[in-house]
Amino acid sequence: MILNVGSSKKKMFKNLFVLLKFILLYDLVKGIVLGIFYCFKPKVTIRYPFEKNPISTKMRGEHMLMLYDNGEERCIGCKLCEAICPAQAITMVTAQLSNGTRCATHYDIDMTKCIYCGLCQEACPVYAIVEGPNYDFAKETHAELIYTKSKLLDNGKRWGKIL
Ligand code: SF4
Ligand code: SF4
Repeated sequence: MILNVGSSKKKMFKNLFVLLKFILLYDLVKGIVLGIFYCFKPKVTIRYPFEKNPISTKMRGEHMLMLYDNGEERCIGCKLCEAICPAQAITMVTAQLSNGTRCATHYDIDMTKCIYCGLCQEACPVYAIVEGPNYDFAKETHAELIYTKSKLLDNGKRWGKIL
């Protein structure tokens, strides 16, 4: 019986507290005070895509095919990148040139299959396929994300300089 009286008193105080909070507009005032407080705090958000956060030097972004300084393609068509790719995203065709060297005649990457593991880059003996710093390449269709050799070479010319 004594226990029942105690619990009903507790319930009454709780209800009174809720009523007081409602009358004094506690939640509204708390929200306004918090809003004013955060107005004066340093901003943690940025205005993407106009502003971008710094990226790590280990960033694995959009792929690119690199050239030597004299403009010659680095890729020697060894197919190590294609063999190691766990997502089977790389498809290539190689050929032997008249001077005896090999090169990739076709080099495609399905960027929708790629898991950005970096294994192709690790396997490449001549630093030809590299994952660059660009992460801003979202597209609307699958076809736009099948990168051909010329697209990868263009990426190398564009992003390779800032690595
Ligand atoms: S980053 Fe990984 S998944 Fe993507 S192409 Fe290279 S090896 Fe394949
Ligand atoms: S990109 Fe590198 S690993 Fe791939 S075929 Fe060319 S040389 Fe070999």
